[in-house]
Amino acid sequence: MIPVTTLAGKKVALFGLGGSGFATARALILGGAHVTAWDDNPDSVTKAAAEGIHTADLRSIDWSVQSLFVLSPGVPLTHPKPHWTVDLARAAGVDIVGDVELFVRERRAHAPDCPFIAITGTNGKSTTTALIAHILKSSGRDTQLGGNIGTAVLTLDPPKAERYYVVECSSYQIDLAPTLNPSAGILLNLTPDHLDRHGTIQHYAGIKERLVAGSGTAIVGVDDSHCEMIADRVERAGTKVVRISRRHPLADGIYAEGTKLIQASSAAALPLADLDGIQTLRGGHNAQNAAAAVAACLAVGVSAEEIRTGLASFPGLKHRMQPVGTRGNIVFVNDSKATNADAAAPALSSYDRIYWIAGGLPKAGGITTLAPFFPRIAKAYLIGEAAAEFAATLGEAVPYEISGTLERAVAHAAADAEKDDTGPSAVMLSPACASFDQYKNFEVRGDAFVSHVAALDGVTMLVGSATGDK
Ligand code: ADP
Repeated sequence: MIPVTTLAGKKVALFGLGGSGFATARALILGGAHVTAWDDNPDSVTKAAAEGIHTADLRSIDWSVQSLFVLSPGVPLTHPKPHWTVDLARAAGVDIVGDVELFVRERRAHAPDCPFIAITGTNGKSTTTALIAHILKSSGRDTQLGGNIGTAVLTLDPPKAERYYVVECSSYQIDLAPTLNPSAGILLNLTPDHLDRHGTIQHYAGIKERLVAGSGTAIVGVDDSHCEMIADRVERAGTKVVRISRRHPLADGIYAEGTKLIQASSAAALPLADLDGIQTLRGGHNAQNAAAAVAACLAVGVSAEEIRTGLASFPGLKHRMQPVGTRGNIVFVNDSKATNADAAAPALSSYDRIYWIAGGLPKAGGITTLAPFFPRIAKAYLIGEAAAEFAATLGEAVPYEISGTLERAVAHAAADAEKDDTGPSAVMLSPACASFDQYKNFEVRGDAFVSHVAALDGVTMLVGSATGDK
């Protein structure tokens, strides 16, 4: 836990008592702030009060004496419209921040030079964040991993010299962190997403830009036009920029050429690392993530050798194109997080011969956009409510069966892959569907896949069978 000492003795209002809000309240109290917390959910308020957190309806407090208002990143600051607490804070002229801003202030107060890497983007944030933390950790550095990836940032150990922070930031967290100043900041990519919460792509891009604009070194993926413009703008403003591309060579920056990562400068273009054979970093999208991770590690002083060692042993993230077991030439891949067609595309593009388990609760549009990948699919095993619809889309293009359940799909796909003597293949759960017709959530679905794989004869598991943990 990081005590928030910068607000000792001050009155602080806080709204949102979910996981990170709760942790933030405790960190503030630990640091000596007088917190008044509230939530629209009465159960959360009761729970906080039972833990000794002072609670009161924020409509009834004296806003004129509050030094700061701390808002959970899940609560609307701007779009579709500001939450009622935001209106009250603004009317009283009280600044509004989130937990990442409190962390940034603590770091500035106690260890302003400790390495701090912040990561944002539309896709690949968690993978890149986990990869950076893994490289740092495997090189023996004291590494703290948190933020949007799941561990509230204020529950990490307090900032001190030689302690490395790797923090994934959602747009909402950046929006609530006005003085965010990482040593190295990554903006991976920008595509329209969450526009319900950000209004326009310009507004969304503007928020993401702030993370790199405030960075010591700004690392920007320049494969989309928004990020390209941001890289130019931030550089013109005087920040050191490292450009990243998975699509084309760069005169200056780090780019992918197939599986090779090349570091280019005016002096030379030198190979830095090769992702060939690293199962957890397959595919062009992961080349982008890895290139950005490499750039960030270099920026905080990690050697190329340490980086190569870390890349090679990256265990991957659960449920995201995660290799979970092998049998001979077959790799079993858990991509349960792919809950729509767009999310399944990277996995389908990353293997040449796939025994594909798909289905669940279908989303609008189904799998029609995945047609370009159909030639890679040796056979499809369809489960859940989407089975009939997906079968109709596959039609004559791809052999399929309606397996119904995940257990049957795994057994049949493994048996068919076993008979395939054309070379390596993947038995992959990348469902392009929500899970709720058969499972509580995508995590439970992914864990079930892992258990079914572990139950097959002769499989070498790469993860713990019950949970997919390493
Ligand atoms: P996020 O944290 O931004 O949601 P994740 O790292 O959890 O991203 O990856 C989620 C999914 O997004 C992956 O399973 C993959 O399908 C896709 N993905 C990962 N990295 C990228 C990338 N750089 N570009 C596009 N899609 C990506």
